[in-house]
Amino acid sequence: MTSPFSNSSALSRYGWTQALDDAFAGHREAGLVPARILRVHRGSCDAIAEHGPVRATIPASRSADPVDAPCTGDWAALRPDRDPELVALLARRSSVVRASAARSSHGQVLAANVDTVVVAVSLAAPLNAARLERFLALGWAGGARPVIALTKADLAADAAAVESEVRSLAPGVDIVVTSVATGQGMDVLAALLGEGTTVLLGPSGVGKSSIGNALLGEELLATGAVRAQDGKGRHTTVRRELVPLRAGGVLIDTPGLRAVSLHDAADGLEQVFAEIERLAESCRFGDCAHDTEPGCAVQAAIRAGEVAERRLDGYRKLQREAAWEAARTDARLRGDRVNRQKAITSHLRATYKFRDQQL
Ligand code: GDP
Ligand code: ZN
Repeated sequence: MTSPFSNSSALSRYGWTQALDDAFAGHREAGLVPARILRVHRGSCDAIAEHGPVRATIPASRSADPVDAPCTGDWAALRPDRDPELVALLARRSSVVRASAARSSHGQVLAANVDTVVVAVSLAAPLNAARLERFLALGWAGGARPVIALTKADLAADAAAVESEVRSLAPGVDIVVTSVATGQGMDVLAALLGEGTTVLLGPSGVGKSSIGNALLGEELLATGAVRAQDGKGRHTTVRRELVPLRAGGVLIDTPGLRAVSLHDAADGLEQVFAEIERLAESCRFGDCAHDTEPGCAVQAAIRAGEVAERRLDGYRKLQREAAWEAARTDARLRGDRVNRQKAITSHLRATYKFRDQQL
């Protein structure tokens, strides 16, 4: 308790909690100090420690699996030498993982220890239900809680209609109607995020940076308007991958998260389509495809008007995508390089076709 590094108050702004402090006890006894990783470079990382920012070496001996590699949001145990070294990572509570599509079948962790995934959906554009479902699935899959922010309410033709459609797509998910222009919903959103760690997901232009800045209370993230003024090719001077929010809590914003589009959604599937999964348990056949099989409870519910047909379509699409990811992972685990390459090639073709139809 009297160690020079035992004052964790500086880290609490970055999400450090008593539970983490307890989990860290053994590392402290070994003379290590906690730090949260801001960004990772080749062979090193920038982190925020109790006494301020540090650059730590990542030993080459760490596992080559990208899922185990340190990433933004991880809590690390550092040896506090003149050249600090990353010795261990605390177990992740949750993460945002993308299956890195083209190059390998490894999952890619985009952010670690994320409590809330805010899926941003613009009210100023037609709703893309399939895309919303995927982003939700990504949130569930990594163990975070999704929240939907309907953005640009000031530009909406009929916000209430979209809100009720979104509600039917995402039962049990908190939905906040927001406008950065009028300030609508921002307090509600800030309260929902609380002290935890948040990421903002959604396609470019929906207002993620604007919401981020409103939550930060500062114009730290370059919004579309500013990016356009800057002109193409000019890099923003400072990147803030992990920043404390005004109301407590922490926002993670990385280039990887900004680029997220296709996801490893297998685990999230059940929760996004909870009512279909529940109905499926009552189908006569265990492997019912909910198509023309006799005794299909899902089709019965559709006929009875209890489930919308497009919910089943969305479920099928996401299931195909998840099956594809699973197939690639299996191939990787078998270490069967030839099969894997074949599978990836054919699956990629199918996926690009699928994606083109979807997005
Ligand atoms: P991002 O690409 O998702 O980060 O989106 P940005 O935050 O950069 O916003 C894209 C554009 O939408 C910018 O020109 C913003 O000024 C504008 N915008 C964002 N939020 C709102 C809003 O609530 N109302 C209005 N009218 N415009 C907004
Ligand atoms: Zn069925």
